[in-house]
Amino acid sequence: MSTSPAPSPRVRGTELVKTYGETTALGGVTVEVRDGESVAVMGPSGSGKTTLLHLLAGIVPPDAGEVILRTDAGPVSIGALDDDARSALRLREFGFVFQQGLLLPELTAVENISLPLLLSGATRASAESSSRGLLASLGLDGLGERRIGQLSGGQAQRVAIARAVVGNPPVVFADEPTGALDSTTASDVLDLLMSLTAHRGRALVLVTHDESVAARCSRVVRMKDGRVVSDSAESRP
Ligand code: ADP
Repeated sequence: MSTSPAPSPRVRGTELVKTYGETTALGGVTVEVRDGESVAVMGPSGSGKTTLLHLLAGIVPPDAGEVILRTDAGPVSIGALDDDARSALRLREFGFVFQQGLLLPELTAVENISLPLLLSGATRASAESSSRGLLASLGLDGLGERRIGQLSGGQAQRVAIARAVVGNPPVVFADEPTGALDSTTASDVLDLLMSLTAHRGRALVLVTHDESVAARCSRVVRMKDGRVVSDSAESRP
């Protein structure tokens, strides 16, 4: 019986090192993320979780090591790109959800969700039409014209998730996406995040302190002192 080979990882970080002055934020981390995986990155405060996320996402350059992204056009070494090409790649390939903020408070939900599409060159009419369609499909169409400041924390996080996926990126990075929410709202927001990412074949890399969030991810990477101390993927076939 022949089996088709597993596709190569969507993102692979190899021997990533990052120091800030005397602090070693990452001391040589190698990690791969595949399509459809939801990877919870856990560890004590200061263990390097956010730094790892920022390096994998091309937001911060490593001091050493390499991040390779598999794109439709073939593998790309993110560090080899100039700033403009890296920004364009981030916009096309990655979505981001953070604990809070980064939505623009003076803009409406639809305007916020439209931003990645506008930055990618879509017209305002088509971007807003896509954003409204997405909101409606999420049962959030009543929120479209509200400014972010008029939304609850859970509603704002749903809008942030919609903005992260509206451009159809293969990878979504989330840093403590439910950290500021009560547990019931956090659970609902996590359901939405999973259904729009890993359950649709996207890779999700999620930093969390919350074991109940990690328990719902397909994989848990634990960090300490800038290193990976356990990775549940190591037990996969
Ligand atoms: P975590 O996300 O696990 O809390 P971080 O990746 O934020 O850890 O930080 C790892 C270490 O690197 C910490 O000691 C932190 O203070 C340091 N660090 C992270 N970013 C910076 C920065 N921009 N400037 C200086 N030190 C930083």
